[in-house]
Amino acid sequence: MPTCPNCQKDIPDEVFVLHEAHCSRFIEVCKQCDQSFPKNKKKEHDDKHHKKVKCPYCAKLVDDIELALHKTICEAKPKPCLYCGAIMELSLLLDHEDHCGSRTESCDICGKNVVIKDMPEHIQNCIEEQEYNENGSLKRKKNNHTIAKKRGKK
Ligand SMILES: [Zn+2]
Ligand SMILES: [Zn+2]
Ligand SMILES: [Zn+2]
Ligand SMILES: [Zn+2]
Ligand SMILES: [Zn+2]
Repeated sequence: MPTCPNCQKDIPDEVFVLHEAHCSRFIEVCKQCDQSFPKNKKKEHDDKHHKKVKCPYCAKLVDDIELALHKTICEAKPKPCLYCGAIMELSLLLDHEDHCGSRTESCDICGKNVVIKDMPEHIQNCIEEQEYNENGSLKRKKNNHTIAKKRGKK
């Protein structure tokens, strides 16, 4: 059975000539999805299956159905600031994080002003120190040695 060069379907010999003439005149095959449709329906087909929408982040045109996927991998996707959680475009974020992270806040545990960037580490230390202090006051003699050792390292 010959294959129609237009719609790539196998067409019986008897109707091939007829089909091909008709097909090349009226039928179009979508290059993107291999569906065939009447030529005058091309716009409808594109609207339905290949509507292009602008990615709100990088302004690229992507297929409507692919936008959700694209958004998850888009490189210009806004991300939350590490320090304050504000969501912003990547182009602004790096600068912002620089400023944002060098603000200081008072530590909930010891009340000292700590640069936000260093806060997670500080809190960790702060908690450990607190625990040492509590342990220390309870069983000072026993723990003195290990505290001194730990502090000495810093
Ligand atoms: Zn055909
Ligand atoms: Zn298509
Ligand atoms: Zn994008
Ligand atoms: Zn921030
Ligand atoms: Zn602290």
